[in-house]
Amino acid sequence: MIKHLGIIGDWVIGYYLEFGIWVLGIGRWRVAVLTPDERERYSRQIMIEEIGSEGQERLKRSRVVIAGAGGLGCSIAPWLAAAGIGTIRIIDHDEVELSNLNRQILHWQEDIGKKKVDSAGSKVRRLNPEIRVETIAESITEKNASSLVHGYEAIVDAMDNLSTRYILNRCAIEKNIPFFHGAVQGFEGRVMTILPGKTACLRCLYRGPGPEGKFPVIGVTPAVIGSIQATEVIKYLLGFGQLLTHRMLMYDGLEAIFTEFAVNRNPDCDHCGTLAD
Ligand SMILES: [Zn+2]
Repeated sequence: MIKHLGIIGDWVIGYYLEFGIWVLGIGRWRVAVLTPDERERYSRQIMIEEIGSEGQERLKRSRVVIAGAGGLGCSIAPWLAAAGIGTIRIIDHDEVELSNLNRQILHWQEDIGKKKVDSAGSKVRRLNPEIRVETIAESITEKNASSLVHGYEAIVDAMDNLSTRYILNRCAIEKNIPFFHGAVQGFEGRVMTILPGKTACLRCLYRGPGPEGKFPVIGVTPAVIGSIQATEVIKYLLGFGQLLTHRMLMYDGLEAIFTEFAVNRNPDCDHCGTLAD
């Protein structure tokens, strides 16, 4: 019904409900009716037929975790914020260093020494004050992963090491939360979307430890890969388009080529093998 009342109706009902909820003390829950400012802010994407006001309201209700505020996280977070994802949680334990600035585009010279989540969080909030940005300055471990992502509907992999990716992959499968994998090195990157129990997971593809420590990378690579991950998240939340499931998209920036290969579920996978299709 609200949909048919027009902008004024939305505005009145939206603020009335927000006020009521505030009075009731349920501050965390935000009404997903768009305000006039939000209608204007998102007007160009509301014009996209598949999104419309309903889709935009869906994004406003969405809750997404970004695991990592490095190169990938700094590319993913602003796009999800700009698109109007209602709640974004950014997790990273690290502090900004000079050598991060070639690629971690939310961290600037003045941020050196600050917590990455503080630096990234403040930029994203300034980009879009309409959304809620939560920051957690912790390392992701087997012990805390589950509680860090509890109550969220998408986990974006913006890590820089395989061991933490495994923790997130297992956690996503156990909690049945879609997992959006991305990785970069040099001029190359890869992306895959994982729907627990339905599509191949990261562990179906990789076994054993990956290389740890510093690796070469130029900033444009996480810019490309992070944008694709953010696109996947938006498509998933809105329920349209073709997700990067059962296939890994590979990007070679030097050759300027995208290729993809099929990834099948491994029935012996120690993370997802016991889940039914
Ligand atoms: Zn698996």
